Amino acid sequence: MDKERKLIIAGNWKMNKTVAEGVALVNGIKREVKDVKEVDMVVCPPFTALSEVSKAILDSNIRLGAQNMSEHNSGAYTGEIAAGMLKEFSARYVILGHSERRQFQKESDELISKKAAAAHAASLKPIVCVGETLAEREGGQMETVLLTQVRGSLAGLTKPQMEETIVAYEPVWAIGTGKTASAQQAQDAHAFIRSLLVKLFDETVARRVRIQYGGSVKPSNTRELMSLPDVDGALVGGASLEDRSFADIIKNSI
Ligand code: PEP
Repeated sequence: MDKERKLIIAGNWKMNKTVAEGVALVNGIKREVKDVKEVDMVVCPPFTALSEVSKAILDSNIRLGAQNMSEHNSGAYTGEIAAGMLKEFSARYVILGHSERRQFQKESDELISKKAAAAHAASLKPIVCVGETLAEREGGQMETVLLTQVRGSLAGLTKPQMEETIVAYEPVWAIGTGKTASAQQAQDAHAFIRSLLVKLFDETVARRVRIQYGGSVKPSNTRELMSLPDVDGALVGGASLEDRSFADIIKNSI
């Protein structure tokens, strides 16, 4: 697929996989995608599996990401993990502001923007998630919600930092539900987000930022979604937990 930006497909394992299961999964993915060069590929295991998964992908084309991090560098923050700690496992990416964290941990746009700044300070690329709920979409609020989240979660980033940030558009109603946004819905939302990046940063930055789609991505809907002009990859939950389906998503995106 000839695209303006290099696609990035990331697997968000959420709170799944023991260390042994995670290593087995990534070894399976590795075998399937060993010749892939056209797409950036990332796995985001739980913290407990980062060390072993990192070793397993050491000489491979797969990169490591985490699912969250603290906005602080160190100190009395029980239970938290700092960006520098993720770097110890050679993580390159970190998912921030996933809708599950916005919902269950009440993460605010302001907090997410602090985390994004801390990620960049440690040379980690943040994958910043935004997306509206079904009620917000049906109430005609989609654009307002995206504006608030994009402006708030990316606040304070410099233009070079923004270019190294990935935005994941994940309509909450499509996550883990089997309901995928239609091609038109996805393209419209992505184009809208890119138009916001033009206003908040500039044309060049907006043209360079990769915007992933997330929400029930599976091998059978990948090709259509990835062919959309403003869709630059996928953030995959459920279908990233099985080597064949994640690898098929990657292959179908090329
Ligand atoms: C996600 O949680 O980021 C996600 C997109 O999940 P799923 O692919 O299972 O809908």
